[in-house]
Amino acid sequence: MSKNKEVILSVKELKKHFDVGGGQIVKAVDGVSFDIYRGETLGLVGESGCGKSTIGRTLIRLYNPTSGSVTFKGVNVNDLKGPELKKFNREMQMIFQDPYASLNPRMNVLDIIAEGIDIHGLATGEERRKRVVELLETVGLNADHAERFPHEFSGGQRQRIGIARALAVEPDFIIADEPISALDVSIQAQVVNLMRRLQKEKGLTYLFIAHDLSMVKYISDRVGVMYLGSMVELADSDALYDEPLHPYTEALLSAVPIPDPEVAKTRERIILEGDVPSPINPPSGCRFRTRCPKAMDICATAVPEWKEAKPNHFVACHLYNE
Ligand code: SF4
Repeated sequence: MSKNKEVILSVKELKKHFDVGGGQIVKAVDGVSFDIYRGETLGLVGESGCGKSTIGRTLIRLYNPTSGSVTFKGVNVNDLKGPELKKFNREMQMIFQDPYASLNPRMNVLDIIAEGIDIHGLATGEERRKRVVELLETVGLNADHAERFPHEFSGGQRQRIGIARALAVEPDFIIADEPISALDVSIQAQVVNLMRRLQKEKGLTYLFIAHDLSMVKYISDRVGVMYLGSMVELADSDALYDEPLHPYTEALLSAVPIPDPEVAKTRERIILEGDVPSPINPPSGCRFRTRCPKAMDICATAVPEWKEAKPNHFVACHLYNE
């Protein structure tokens, strides 16, 4: 995905802090910047609590940013009001981690999928039903499923219903927040393949949030790595996986199972010491320094700059200072 592609979403210095009482502030997202190009999939990875889901929720306005901006199709999403906001609510959709919790158990599948169609007045009566059946077929289900309730489906089928619901309003941009984490491994690939097919057919752009690095590589054009509220590395998928620059990315990748035993033998497993520090009181300088096997004196005092170390390959680490 080249820089000449159209930027559909631009995030600049985004911060989202939560006041948790007692004068304590959780810095869940603390100054993150990136662009997403139309038609690509940007994967966002990192351990739980690193801020990746908070970013997703701030992009779609479930949270207001503490500072910084989110620009979608050239407009700051926090300035949107009235009809423009309604249009944005159609254009950007979200698929959630737990397909069961995100589907209303008292509604049948027809009404769950048609909710967006109703809100946006896209169809009524027989046309409404026809659209829902088409959507069910698009995601590999069928008309017989329309009258059933969420508890009658498997996890994989429920995630297909979640995808159909997102597609019902014909979005351009989908935030998929850990969409396969709750599914059996055998079903994960099916859902990811479905998402890839839909992307091709409908020209969708995805932000794919996950901690499973192997699946992220499979679906993503580019991947961003988050640690403790900051982005530490961003590159094309192949470059990030073949030549990671940041010590945290190296450690994450060293834990990914390699199917080829010969290749696996050559890869050293990097075990990170200690737990992720609290986002209430992150370490000075580089936030990763308390666990970094390559930390130097400067890492405790200076925040590493976000820089393009190689073409289209960004990293925040003092190892790459000139
Ligand atoms: Fe490690 Fe220092 Fe780089 Fe941080 S800046 S990742 S502590 S080497």
